[in-house]
Amino acid sequence: MQGLMQRTPLLLSGLIKHAGRYHAMREIVSRNAQGEIERSNWGEVERRAKRLARALARLGIRPGDRVASMAWNSARHLELYFGVTGPGIVLHTVNPRLFPGQIEYMLNHAEDRLIFFDPAFAPLLEQLAPKLSSVEGYVALAPREAMPETSLAPLHCYEELIGAESEDFEWPVLDENDASLLCYTSGTTGNPKGVLYSHRALVLHSYCAASADVVGLTAEDSILVVVPLFHANAWGLPFAGAASGSKLILPGPKLDGESLFHLMADEEATAAAGVPTVWFGFFDYIDKNRDKLDLSRIRLQKALVGGSAAPRALIKRFNETFGTFLVHAWGMTETSPIATTGKLLAKHAKLDREARYDVQAKQGRALFGVELKITDDEGRELPRDGRAVGHVKVRGPWVTAGYFKGEGGNVLDAEGWFDTGDVGTLDEDGYLTLVDRAKDLIKSGGEWISSIDLENAAVAHPDVLEAAAIGATHPKWVERPLLLIVCREGKLVSREEMLAFLSDKVARWWLPDDVVVVDSLPHTATGKLSKATLRKQYADYFTSRLAGAEAAAAPVAS
Ligand code: AMP
Repeated sequence: MQGLMQRTPLLLSGLIKHAGRYHAMREIVSRNAQGEIERSNWGEVERRAKRLARALARLGIRPGDRVASMAWNSARHLELYFGVTGPGIVLHTVNPRLFPGQIEYMLNHAEDRLIFFDPAFAPLLEQLAPKLSSVEGYVALAPREAMPETSLAPLHCYEELIGAESEDFEWPVLDENDASLLCYTSGTTGNPKGVLYSHRALVLHSYCAASADVVGLTAEDSILVVVPLFHANAWGLPFAGAASGSKLILPGPKLDGESLFHLMADEEATAAAGVPTVWFGFFDYIDKNRDKLDLSRIRLQKALVGGSAAPRALIKRFNETFGTFLVHAWGMTETSPIATTGKLLAKHAKLDREARYDVQAKQGRALFGVELKITDDEGRELPRDGRAVGHVKVRGPWVTAGYFKGEGGNVLDAEGWFDTGDVGTLDEDGYLTLVDRAKDLIKSGGEWISSIDLENAAVAHPDVLEAAAIGATHPKWVERPLLLIVCREGKLVSREEMLAFLSDKVARWWLPDDVVVVDSLPHTATGKLSKATLRKQYADYFTSRLAGAEAAAAPVAS
């Protein structure tokens, strides 16, 4: 027997309709490339999104077509999230930090018909334009006076394009399984692959993202969305924000510590979301300017951090500086992206702070809607005992069922599980602890060493800003850990000091064979440490040193 409830499709337009009606005056604050603050609100976002939907129809863009965006976080980019997807067109958010060759591949693979772009990206697009086979026009996200000087053609001015339309538009009723956004993952091998989100998946994900187990967004919250709108739907926060009527604070291109600190203070952010690297820069700025800054202006209650492991030291820092609870989240582009968060359980209430930080440092528990398990190499489920290490697999309504255009073939097993490529443990309470990306594990003498654990232990040193651990080839052990560290300005941590510091934090045989101080570490376009670059650069670090030592020790032939 079927239930007798309405089958209202779950559509992204439903979110903006709700925000436009019930939270019309709630602000959307953007900082533009010139550093100026621009103010809009949810009502304005809906009206302008409707104009955009009409403009797209006038340009002949039909439901199912793809259009791309290449832009920082701003109200205009937010309007695309709704104005493009509302009529059934797919918004392909492009990460402008990728290599031009990868961007070219993605734009052609997606067959984007239009590209909406921040004026600053005109030179990059000019370079790509001759190689883009499907693009019929470019729209600069700017008013007439800020249009870039560019050879891109045909070129539209966004403000004029939508200014020419009325806001008399009804959001159409689509199939909730229709595509809405498209985001490519950089992929470890081969070309980037497209994750094609349905309306249904993202609406369900927004209930989850807004819930108390994630950020707990309400109409009283103001969330600083540092995670880019081009990275996995900005973790669903624009949608969760629309559902909750939260104020959104969109930082534009400036993501340095100083810019974020002042934006957070001036706009009275109660919540913020970004990758760990962003917060390292934020606290570094605070440390260097402690005397000048009034920290009581920061009202942050919760920070959502993911994309890479949030070190315990960062969790502690947030709590002890501002009383902010750091919600450690794990997920991936393929999971829309939030899959687990590290909230505490009732049984943790009596723990002291330090013990709670230990719990928060884990990647967290599966959120309702996401199923999680770990398996051995043969796909057999492993026990949830906090010890067995296995491949992390997920399934659920906001987990991908396959990549765009079938790239990569069938990515699910017979029971619908998706292999995340991550390796970790699950404990009795369901907390996931990520040991590593499968490819980043360090293989030493047949045993595994977690690069994440080594890095977290290293950055707990007060003079270390960032650390990366990789496996470098070793003639005896196959690989041995090499630790690269970036020290805080004016500080130097020697190899001996670092090894002594680590000695009571990791197993003896995990201690790196060497510690190298570097000025900076390479990052991927999504802000993660680029282990692939480091592995290439330092692959022969130990073998060449050993060869050098042997040569030096060899008797000199006369
Ligand atoms: P992306 O698709 O670019 O968002 O990357 C997803 C990958 O980032 C995951 O498969 C993990 O390897 C890594 N990742 C995401 N969140 C975390 C986290 N909290 N701790 C450690 N790694 C993470």
